[in-house]
Amino acid sequence: MRILITGAAGFLGSHLCDRFLAEGHEVIGMDNFLTGTRGNIEHLEGNPAFRFIEHDVTREIEIDGPLDGVLHFASPASPIDYLELPIQTLKVGSLGTHKTLGVAKAKRARYLLASTSEVYGDPQVHPQPESYWGHVNPIGPRGVYDEAKRFAEAMTMAYHRYHGVDTRIVRIFNTYGPRMRPEDGRVVSNFIVQALKGEPLTAYGSGQQTRSFCFVADEVDGIYRLFMSDYTNPVNIGNPDEFTILELARRVIELTGSQSSIDFRPLPEDDPKVRRPDISLARKVLGWEPTINLDEGLRRTIPYFRQVLSETGVIAAGR
Ligand code: NAD
Ligand code: UDP
Repeated sequence: MRILITGAAGFLGSHLCDRFLAEGHEVIGMDNFLTGTRGNIEHLEGNPAFRFIEHDVTREIEIDGPLDGVLHFASPASPIDYLELPIQTLKVGSLGTHKTLGVAKAKRARYLLASTSEVYGDPQVHPQPESYWGHVNPIGPRGVYDEAKRFAEAMTMAYHRYHGVDTRIVRIFNTYGPRMRPEDGRVVSNFIVQALKGEPLTAYGSGQQTRSFCFVADEVDGIYRLFMSDYTNPVNIGNPDEFTILELARRVIELTGSQSSIDFRPLPEDDPKVRRPDISLARKVLGWEPTINLDEGLRRTIPYFRQVLSETGVIAAGR
């Protein structure tokens, strides 16, 4: 297959490029480096099955030749990023989704939208099944991301129903692993970087809020299976093992061997109190469930950050 992946220089997009290439497909990666880095795809330079186009997907997209698939992953994803980039976040979720759906329609390609657990907002149903419509504040600071993704889901279903585009929607729950930016502000990268630097880990609020963390290899496997399936309604892909933020902080301190303490900071506005995917549907229609638990995933992630921080001189080599 010949596949277009937007957000290819980002954390998830770059891992998806690797997976599609490993499965023998041809990949065109597209990104404007808003929150991604060239370093995430530099290992693909010279690979004849990979081509990169630097482009803002909110503008007209032109691709030469046929396409069999479009995966729309371009969007700031860390709360820190989308709070700093509110308009770009709204535009890439709305205009970018419209443009990429237009490409899929014109090329008769299958389309997969990267949606998010944030469509459930601060949920009043726990764990969250796909049938839950969510509890989102449209005008709060997180609304720029949540509503852009809800609009993107609606637009995807409209192209499916009205234009007959073959679509998929994945609702991704907190995913972590190598290639996250050390400064991207998400909790796993923050805690690992803080622990490696010997600085206090910053728990927001009481640290009693929960998240369910999925290692990137599991997440990408679920997304790949969904793309290859014929299931067109949204599917949750995430790890249902739920932890408080304080539990995560303790696991990171232990697994890095750090002496760091835990500091408490104000809770950001509208921060969801709980989050955990109900993955019954993914089990049933994709035969998918995660295989890598939190400790194992952290063990595979910590060396990446250790290397990045020592290469940039932030920590002494070998620490
Ligand atoms: P990321 O910030 O690492 O990657 C996003 C990429 O999109 C970046 O490379 C950025 O430069 C690119 N981009 C942004 N706007 C663009 C534009 N207008 N044109 C072209 N490229 C643009 O984030 P990520 O964690 O890899 O997330 C990827 C996707 O998965 C996003 O759509 C996000 O909403 C979704 N998602 C991720 C998670 C997670 O836990 N990582 C959870 C839920 C949903
Ligand atoms: N968080 C934290 N300390 C940090 C970064 C985040 O306590 O340094 C908390 C944040 O308030 C939220 C959870 O960790 O409750 C997950 O935050 P993240 O930014 O990773 O993503 P979210 O799930 O909120 O989209």
